[in-house]
Amino acid sequence: MVFTTARPQGLAVLHFITKSENQNHSMHHFHYHGSQLYCEDVSVETLARKYGTPLFIYSQQTITDRFLALDQALSELDHLVCFAVKSNSNRAVLRTVADLGGGFDIVSAGELQRVIAAGGQAGKCAFAGVGKSEAEIRYALEQGVYTFNVESEAELKRIDAIAGRLKKKAPVAVRVNPNVEAHTHAKITTGTYENKFGIAFEEIEKVYARASRMKNLWLRGVQMHIGSQITESTPFETAVRKVGPLAARLKARHGLEFFSLGGGIGIVYDPALESGSPKWWLAGAGRKTLTPARYAERLLPDLKSLGLRILLEPGRFISGNSGILVTRIEYVKRTGRKNFLIVDAAMNDLIRPAFYDAYHQILPLSRKGGKLISSDVVGPVCESGDYFCHDRPLPKVGEGDYLALMSAGAYGSVMGSNYNSRALPAEIMVRGKKAAVVRRRQALEEIHVGESIAPWQK
Ligand SMILES: *Cc1c(COP(=O)(O)O)cnc(C)c1O
Repeated sequence: MVFTTARPQGLAVLHFITKSENQNHSMHHFHYHGSQLYCEDVSVETLARKYGTPLFIYSQQTITDRFLALDQALSELDHLVCFAVKSNSNRAVLRTVADLGGGFDIVSAGELQRVIAAGGQAGKCAFAGVGKSEAEIRYALEQGVYTFNVESEAELKRIDAIAGRLKKKAPVAVRVNPNVEAHTHAKITTGTYENKFGIAFEEIEKVYARASRMKNLWLRGVQMHIGSQITESTPFETAVRKVGPLAARLKARHGLEFFSLGGGIGIVYDPALESGSPKWWLAGAGRKTLTPARYAERLLPDLKSLGLRILLEPGRFISGNSGILVTRIEYVKRTGRKNFLIVDAAMNDLIRPAFYDAYHQILPLSRKGGKLISSDVVGPVCESGDYFCHDRPLPKVGEGDYLALMSAGAYGSVMGSNYNSRALPAEIMVRGKKAAVVRRRQALEEIHVGESIAPWQK
């Protein structure tokens, strides 16, 4: 790997990280062999030339490693790791998780259908979300999901009524809002009373008491989820210390089987800010990445005594560092002030920078020496929000060169749109020396295939 380091005196230099260093960070399996970026044992540029760009590439080994790291960290407990499908719903990704014995956190009937199509089991699915429709509840009951994670009393009543009609008992868990600050981006914090998620901590016991009188519900668990991209253990600890005793009381009263801690474990987007790396001092404290081992070490003591099955719902932690978005430089445009690299990927392919001010490391597929140039990487869409970075020191690259937007495996492809009538990119899964197309590039005609003119326009 290579990244840039701004020294205190303002000089930009290239810093190289060897493969073994990267593996110590156990982040992912994208690294340089000589001057070429590889995904596992496959040259990324070879894939870009063969399948075109923009192109999402996923490392199956990375998905596997990340899943197993969490799974093994919880091995002392009865547990199930439910991958959050919304972070990356490609069927090949879901199949990887299913083959590892994982479950799924789903938020719609569409996601449940994908899980089943990918070979996953409905019986290992937790159905989350504040707005489940009647049709979605019916479908999920028919398929036999493990639990409905319920967000309001109105939803409990609706599930009870539908289950009654289908002559089923619906497994439910109520989502507790523990009112804990997660110290993350405002658009991805969910565990405080300022947002729409869950039921307030103080109300929960009364809600369970009322739910216990609904004949078609099976009170199976209790759930929480405090936010996303959380990079320290403290918010999780605070929430578990608060909700754990509540879970114990509910278990005693209603015979609950599980406690879901939600997802939200953060990942490293900028390796230069990790403790011990050359630019760590920019992050202030130079804090350590939140690893599964650390997460488990802090939470296990409180969880063990509960005697409940523990569910986790990680999305980004498993898929985030497992994917990249490869793009080709169309034009280099120098204005008086700026060096713009205009690339063929855009905000419709990866909206995180525009949406969350997100940082993605950007690496050339062919590593070059020489001076770094402060550059803006931008897409072709007619929005100033269509950028991938501003004023970042990057190697000198030209038209036809390729760049990789790193850590694009979560909330990347799934948030893609056809804005500007741009086709959705292809997706490739790599395993060792093998690579396969796991979503073909959308054809232009497919973008408007469902549209027609009104009859009176004929
Ligand atoms: C989004 C979400 C997750 C996954 O969040 P990550 O930050 O990707 O781990 C898990 N559970 C619920 C309820 C969610 O809404």
